[in-house]
Amino acid sequence: MSGRTSPRACPERTCVGCRRRSAQNDLLRVALDGNTCVPDLRGTLPGRGAYVHPVSACLESALRRRAFLRAFRATGALDTTALEQQVGVPGT
Ligand SMILES: [Zn+2]
Repeated sequence: MSGRTSPRACPERTCVGCRRRSAQNDLLRVALDGNTCVPDLRGTLPGRGAYVHPVSACLESALRRRAFLRAFRATGALDTTALEQQVGVPGT
């Protein structure tokens, strides 16, 4: 046993909310469809993706810091309704 796991076996991504790295499996991939952020539950949507922990605290801080705009290099407002419904942000 080498005691080391291959980094390829467990890809890590940075959460755009709390900026902590987690296994990709623990994060929700977010894709951009036009100006709409959509939860990419299967990880199959094309294009640039952002990763966030599927918890309201991380989503809220990502929204507050406009982290998705930066992640997608987008300008203007993004529609994050679908994302909020997926994660379940309590009425903000
Ligand atoms: Zn997070």
